[in-house]
Amino acid sequence: MATDTLATPAHLSDTQTRVFKNFIDGEWVDSISGETFENRNPADTRDLVGIFQKSNKEDVNAAVDAAKRAFAKWRLVPAPRRAEMVFRAAEILIERKEEYSRDMTREMGKVLAETRGDVQEAIDCAYYMAGEGRRMFGPTVPSELPNKFAMAVRQPVGICGMITPWNFPMAISSWKLLPAVVCGNTCVIKPAQDTPLSTFNLVRAMTDAGLPKGVINIVSGFGSMVGTPLAEHADVRAISLTGSSEVGRIVGGIAAKSFKHCSLELGGKNPMIVLDDANLDLAIEGGLWGGFGTTGQRCTATSRIIVQKGVYRAFIDRYIERAKKLKVGNGLDESVEMGPAINEKQLQTDLSYVEIGKNEGAKLMCGGNRLDQGEYKYGWFMQPTVFIDVDPKMRIAQEEIFGPVVSIIACDNLENAIEIANGIEYGLSSSIYTRDVNKAFTAMRDLYAGITYINAPTIGAEVHLPFGGTKATGNGHREGGIGAIEFFTEWKSVYVDYSDKLQKAQIDRVD
Ligand code: NAD
Repeated sequence: MATDTLATPAHLSDTQTRVFKNFIDGEWVDSISGETFENRNPADTRDLVGIFQKSNKEDVNAAVDAAKRAFAKWRLVPAPRRAEMVFRAAEILIERKEEYSRDMTREMGKVLAETRGDVQEAIDCAYYMAGEGRRMFGPTVPSELPNKFAMAVRQPVGICGMITPWNFPMAISSWKLLPAVVCGNTCVIKPAQDTPLSTFNLVRAMTDAGLPKGVINIVSGFGSMVGTPLAEHADVRAISLTGSSEVGRIVGGIAAKSFKHCSLELGGKNPMIVLDDANLDLAIEGGLWGGFGTTGQRCTATSRIIVQKGVYRAFIDRYIERAKKLKVGNGLDESVEMGPAINEKQLQTDLSYVEIGKNEGAKLMCGGNRLDQGEYKYGWFMQPTVFIDVDPKMRIAQEEIFGPVVSIIACDNLENAIEIANGIEYGLSSSIYTRDVNKAFTAMRDLYAGITYINAPTIGAEVHLPFGGTKATGNGHREGGIGAIEFFTEWKSVYVDYSDKLQKAQIDRVD
């Protein structure tokens, strides 16, 4: 018998291997296609984490139908009651934090300290969004006319489709699902094919917290087979994608055709500026954490470090010395600092950029190789890699690699640093290390990105502030904070005329 349970083990098959079914209308069901795919541990591919449904358009249709039925009732549940379920989900997640973190390290590879942080982010998001259920403020304004009342109220959008990436498997699902359900929407989510288990775990917590059937439905599978039909479905009124800019262009194009709400949170190539007056110890610590945390697989990863010439040599010497010593390995080992790439394809991409960097003339000072001997034999490991003397126009300084490859670029002064920082197609995160308040404020104003950190690396967002970026990083929406409530609601303006006569706005006036 299966060892895992949802309360009872209904979502599993009766074999030893954990088989996860789609979750539609409160039931765990096989894909209509009858096909499945494997989820394996990227640190040790002999470890089969689970078998998931390889779904198709028909499964999407069934899930959307269930969400549609559930929406008729869920939208009428008072928002504070909806929010209470989300609050309970937070408490369940706290109880299960260790179990879900270990599941996540097994399916995604990042170290336990980080997967605990990922689950914590879902907990934080749940508490924050539970509070929003008692706010959802709208304006009440004086009318232009006597005996007339004017206000605007938030209404749910309807059925929301969600498509997530693999790097923050629970946090990103929570950023989408939790505000959506608090606002009275119902959801169909397609988790990334590399890390579906963490979304299943989040939804289990929400189901156990009392969420009615059909409010959240999961359809697992691949982008074109599940993500595309979800984005295309006529009954889906909002689509929220976090992923690459390439897929963002596809999904945004599909959503535009039927005028869906569409939130795109996409790639990044994030700069960290280190000025001559910076606390170098702090900058080196930050640059290591930002560059190699999550194996560089964060949309906000510090992939470019722009260092002023006065401290360039001192910075690179010490940074490289530290990067060489980072302990790479299986994230379940608490002493490991950097896990594997998510899969073979990503590892090959990372390694191909090492060749690109070398051919472009950047100096490879550290790493650059695959690790595949001994303990690394069955995983997708690579050394922490640092290039120096990188020209800002080189591909390794322009393109999102999404791996443990950091490019260090020299700059003359603050103005030059900001020009280099902004000289890319993305605009997600940015940071500056300086002790000069004037320079810090200039950077806060002039870095054209959705996030700027002062004296911290480019990673570390908190759930109650807007999250997202400029240019090719997205389409202007923000997750986190109040932006999520904005996205998952429609405004309705309501006018109540209690004058008992026809009053004509803009026309009936005494001048
Ligand atoms: P990806 O774009 O390959 O996939 C993202 C999701 O889209 C997956 O669920 C995938 O199955 C689905 N998808 C793929 N093709 C599709 C299609 N044609 N139609 C519909 N859906 C499709 O990205 P990934 O490799 O999972 O994640 C890495 C990317 O995500 C990086 O570019 C990273 O910067 C970005 N990211 C952005 C943020 C952010 O908030 N800005 C956060 C995390 C990751």
